[in-house]
Amino acid sequence: MQTIDNFNFAGKKAFVRVDFNVPLDENFNITDDTRMRAALPTLKKILADGGSIIIGSHLGRPKGVNEKYSLKHILPHLSELLGVDVQFANDCVGEEAAVKAAALQPGEVLLLENLRFYAEEEGKPRGLADDASEEEKKAAKKAVKESQKDFTKRLASYADAYVNDAFGTAHRAHASTALMAAYFDTDHKMFGYLMEKEVKAVEKVLNDINRPFTAIMGGSKVSSKIEIIENLLNKVDNLIITGGMTYTFTKAMGGKIGNSICEEDKLELAKELMAKAKEKGVNLVLAVDAKIADNFSNDANTAFAPVNEIPDGWEGLDIGPKSEEIFANVIKNSKTILWNGPTGVFEFENFTHGSRSVGEAIVEATKNGAFSLVGGGDSVACVNKFGLADGVSYVSTGGGALLEAIEGKVLPGIEAIRGY
Ligand code: AMP
Repeated sequence: MQTIDNFNFAGKKAFVRVDFNVPLDENFNITDDTRMRAALPTLKKILADGGSIIIGSHLGRPKGVNEKYSLKHILPHLSELLGVDVQFANDCVGEEAAVKAAALQPGEVLLLENLRFYAEEEGKPRGLADDASEEEKKAAKKAVKESQKDFTKRLASYADAYVNDAFGTAHRAHASTALMAAYFDTDHKMFGYLMEKEVKAVEKVLNDINRPFTAIMGGSKVSSKIEIIENLLNKVDNLIITGGMTYTFTKAMGGKIGNSICEEDKLELAKELMAKAKEKGVNLVLAVDAKIADNFSNDANTAFAPVNEIPDGWEGLDIGPKSEEIFANVIKNSKTILWNGPTGVFEFENFTHGSRSVGEAIVEATKNGAFSLVGGGDSVACVNKFGLADGVSYVSTGGGALLEAIEGKVLPGIEAIRGY
């Protein structure tokens, strides 16, 4: 497999797929440029070699051309970060893009407009009527798959080499994240530095596990995390299930959860997961107490209660001090740690304590030699918010991609380059 370090970009044009899906405020100011900074080592290496770059990215989830999601908004900041006047093509596959790409000189950079302005990027039909028949849906799908080939080929035609540095979308088989790679031979396609680091971090967790291995899964719903939880039961020694998911488990065990968030239709599943954990000898750790609130707001009245004795009219919005201690003990005795999802509604300042304490325990374990991997938007936001990012081994830019990789799935963006 080709590597970015071994490739000399001098006189070459590289198409670099990045993840510049950054949050913007209502005036289109970038509120967090982490993802842009993460791609800089790759972009700078290409320029330092004497190559030129065509950058492709998505921004948000537009359903067609939509000014709100234009990558134009990030152009000045990108120029500033790179120290180069970055050019812009208003349409990623229009004539303008082709002409500008062809004219690129060594050291020059061209940013293409949002790839997702075209349905072909994702390969999913758009604009289908709600009452479309199965036939119509099938035909639309076929049509977009057909036109996706031309779209992909056109993007590939701009460059001599293809670099994928967008780990956040590596679990999607989109035109620019996976399909494009087919138009380049093995020597001319490679991961960018960020992607390389992400893949290594995942491999470390999957193949080189120092035990005990503890996974902390938080977040609101069991339903969105079943697969990963089931898969982790085959890998971990300790599984801490926390956040809003807690109450589905508590209720399944006959506890009283007041108004806490709960998936009534997942009570049986929660029981099954507990039984499976037992069968596999996994220590499933759940909260024993909760910080409860009399409504879903930062200003609510609060109290602490056993997690299975939450009064009517109150809901658990974070873990309590006893749970913090239990979680911290498990974490501090671990040698490999994966964290995805907060222990509570961390967006409310008054319910951040549990997530902070988990983060701090991870930092301490890391100091003592553990390998810790934090991924998923909310947990990354937590470690950044609490200033703990430097204390963990690796903060992943991937949410869904990271979890799918940890589940053991082959990610299309990785397979397209590496072959497996
Ligand atoms: P997810 O999107 O499933 O990863 O979950 C993340 C969200 O879960 C965050 O926005 C949290 O606010 C939310 N969350 C965590 N704990 C609770 C809870 N006890 N009640 C309601 N929402 C929660």
